[in-house]
Amino acid sequence: MSTAHYAVNGATAVITLDNPPVNGLGLELRSGIVAGLDRAAADPKVKAVVLIGTPRAFSGGADIREFNTPKMTAEPNLHNVIRALEAMRKPVVAAISGNCMGGGLELALGCHFRIAGPGAQIGLPEVKLGLLPGAGGTQRLPRLVGLEHALNMIVSGAPVPSEMFKGTPLLDDFVTGDLLEGALAFAQKAVADKRPLKRVRDLKVRHANVEGYIHFARTSVGAMAGPFPAPLKCVEAVNAATLPFEQGLAREREQFAELVMTPESRALRHAFFGERAASKLPDVPEGTPTRPIRKAAVIGAGTMGGGIAMNFLNAGIPVTVLETKQEALDKGLGIIRKNYESTVKKGKLKPEKMAERMKLLTPTLKYEDLGDADIVIEAVFEDMAVKKAVFEKLDQVMKKGAILATNTSTLDVDQIAAFTRRPADVVGTHFFSPANVMRLLEIVRGKKTAKDVLATTLALAKTIRKVAVVSGVCDGFIGNRMIHQYGRESQVLIMEGALPQQVDKAMEKWGMAMGPFRMGDLAGLAVGWYIRKRHYAEHPGMPRAVVADRICELGRFGQKTGKGWYAYKAGDRTAYPDAEVDTIIDQARKAAGITPRKLTDEEIVERLVFALVNEGARILEEGIALRASDVDMVYLNGYGFPLHRGGPMLYADSAGLYHVVRRCEQFASNPLTDREFWQPAKLLAQLAAGGKSFAAFDAAGGAVKQAGAKPVKAKPKAKPKPKAQSKAKSRSRAAA
Ligand code: NAD
Repeated sequence: MSTAHYAVNGATAVITLDNPPVNGLGLELRSGIVAGLDRAAADPKVKAVVLIGTPRAFSGGADIREFNTPKMTAEPNLHNVIRALEAMRKPVVAAISGNCMGGGLELALGCHFRIAGPGAQIGLPEVKLGLLPGAGGTQRLPRLVGLEHALNMIVSGAPVPSEMFKGTPLLDDFVTGDLLEGALAFAQKAVADKRPLKRVRDLKVRHANVEGYIHFARTSVGAMAGPFPAPLKCVEAVNAATLPFEQGLAREREQFAELVMTPESRALRHAFFGERAASKLPDVPEGTPTRPIRKAAVIGAGTMGGGIAMNFLNAGIPVTVLETKQEALDKGLGIIRKNYESTVKKGKLKPEKMAERMKLLTPTLKYEDLGDADIVIEAVFEDMAVKKAVFEKLDQVMKKGAILATNTSTLDVDQIAAFTRRPADVVGTHFFSPANVMRLLEIVRGKKTAKDVLATTLALAKTIRKVAVVSGVCDGFIGNRMIHQYGRESQVLIMEGALPQQVDKAMEKWGMAMGPFRMGDLAGLAVGWYIRKRHYAEHPGMPRAVVADRICELGRFGQKTGKGWYAYKAGDRTAYPDAEVDTIIDQARKAAGITPRKLTDEEIVERLVFALVNEGARILEEGIALRASDVDMVYLNGYGFPLHRGGPMLYADSAGLYHVVRRCEQFASNPLTDREFWQPAKLLAQLAAGGKSFAAFDAAGGAVKQAGAKPVKAKPKAKPKPKAQSKAKSRSRAAA
């Protein structure tokens, strides 16, 4: 079916773009536009052409489904579509509605005239993918709206409402009634008035002081761009709009080609596509039925419970919060109220909206009040006995079909599910602190979790604006299981000779939002200590985090207690190095007979980041995560991993897996570290030996199946496929 429809209305040809959802400029649509133009040019009865989209979108730009496929650059490419528009000898009018973004705006800029209706969003967002508009946008937009306005739009990538362009040269008319009728009337009048065909490329950029302005732009944009090269390249490309058009266009193309190759753009594109991929489960296809979520409940109004409840309130979903004691309930609700009040004070929330949200919140001490909720999320203490009591009670009171979710960060979701008579309704929803702010939601899939429960939880994540990543069941799931190795290795680093402040500085310079020790102090050290003690009991021979344990034994639990890995002053979050900590470290080294050595920042970064990579590879090998990009999305959205590095697995790809494996082997020969851990993960070693990458692993389909997913029943008469079966078998054994 064609994605560009051609019709003639009187003496005007109408080309309607029809490539849902947002009229992405895929190959078929591009070809359809050119074919329509050719038809209109050849028909003597046609005097003008209207290019129009749907109410939702004129065009949202490139069709992301074509990214990394030959169709993306196949002819006619967007440049040539725009050339065809500009070459028309009959007026072409773009009728803009809805989204008019990126390539969509570049297409409109190639038309002789543009009209728009209210509520359209117009912009060039390429910078958000580390790119610049590559089909003449940086050359045509400044010619129409001026250097400064164009540069602001291109560097920010932010859409501008069509109303803001009323009366500017970008729009020749603003239509409040029916857009197509307005466009037809405009086209007829342009023909009747014999209006000259305006080609944007023929205009000149006017500015009183180009050099001065560009100098100012370079300085201010450079200061804001951080590690990303695209914003400054946008400045250079826009500056080139002062050159003759074809020369400027060539500059734009050069800068675009350079940006595509940068690791920063690769990282941004990886994040964009990774987020979308993460919500797809091969065995839970789109269209899997979902259960309606109209009412929610949360058990526990502590740090996490309060934040989780706010997610529902923000989305307009009524939520009942249950606690064991009135004081705890009052305290939890007080914190929610205070959080909203502070947002109101900052002017980011209207007081009426806050009142509306608070009205949706019902506190209770009685389980019977929860029964009619569609989903209940448990956020009580991280203790299996407490979870057991809660889930047994939920099993009694919740209505049939309700989803029973746990926010546990490390415990076995299958064991929790087994406390109920409806394990298919149980799922992990692992939020990150502060739960009303952090974007990540790990959805933990139990062995028996039903597909519609997964589909519903994934849909709910969208409603509450979270990035969802599905994890199989294991201790710590994807994120915390990896961070455990990162934390463990950071302890070895200080035993060997580094100090917390050196480790933190090295990691922060590399791009982490916070080094491991400052992060520990912020999050609080008590939970980690509690979990370590459980691990020591479960694995009596395991090496102990001597310094970390000592710090906790002294009641230094982080910022909350004014002391942790650092010392803090009242009302000041600055981490001050503390001589007491140096002494603890020194004593621990002496007791272990270690002579400290100097570690370079490079070694610190590699030991910590590759610890994430090696554990990440094991997680993939076991099918706990389905894709390397899923692992990266967890780290980008939940652990302050630098966006410009794209996540640990993409970073490993850019460092080269051969190099990563060699470093792991070298670290494994260090007697102070966990030598077994540093044996390169099987998957990592295999990929490196084959000259492959994690991206290639994902492209080949990722993990065969998610750990926890029910095995697919073999069809009765299907012939066995030896290779595929043995592969699946070895992975599921690893998961056990
Ligand atoms: P918290 O101690 O701040 O809050 C727990 C709350 O649960 C308390 O208010 C307590 O009164 C209440 N509670 C205890 N037993 C209860 C019961 N039987 N019925 C009802 N309420 C009960 O703990 P938290 O940090 O909010 O952690 C809660 C859960 O979330 C844990 O499983 C934890 O592992 C997980 N988690 C915590 C974080 C974090 O950063 N704090 C992050 C992700 C997940």
